[in-house]
Amino acid sequence: MALIFDTDHYEYEIAPEVSVLWGLAAVRTLPDGTESERINYKVHSRAEAESTIEDAIRREPSEPTRIAASLLSVTAHFADGSLMDFWIILDVTDWRCLDCRTDMRTVDEYYLLRDELWLSIVPDRVGHLCIGCVEGRLGRLLGPDDFQPGRASLDGRYSDRLRDRTGVPDA
Ligand SMILES: [Zn+2]
Repeated sequence: MALIFDTDHYEYEIAPEVSVLWGLAAVRTLPDGTESERINYKVHSRAEAESTIEDAIRREPSEPTRIAASLLSVTAHFADGSLMDFWIILDVTDWRCLDCRTDMRTVDEYYLLRDELWLSIVPDRVGHLCIGCVEGRLGRLLGPDDFQPGRASLDGRYSDRLRDRTGVPDA
């Protein structure tokens, strides 16, 4: 899985099956400790997030006095005692089946299994598996009780075998 993500490091593969969504959020804290509502900015890249942060800091009425930053967060302190916390949001999804590498957006198998069952075959939780590869890992066919109630399809679409395993009747 070419996907590494923590506060100091991220890494993902550039591929058509990997979707990368950037975001930026901020909260302003006044000198008396009052926090603003979360402010959301629309950004499409890390560079855009960084320039948006710089613009936002420049637009504050008070002069910045100190900047503290990590890879995906910035805190700006201002002369009047207020501060702004920014979070760069990175949401990476690799849509390939972990085993057969099928792009799961091209097949109608977007489902959730019960937690303990999923963790028994995908211990680090992350990723997608098609029905055939889940069953390969389990060594048996799936049945209706294996799916999270109401989440046998997250997008309302069913491949023939997902419909068969979940027991959901044809629409
Ligand atoms: Zn598969």
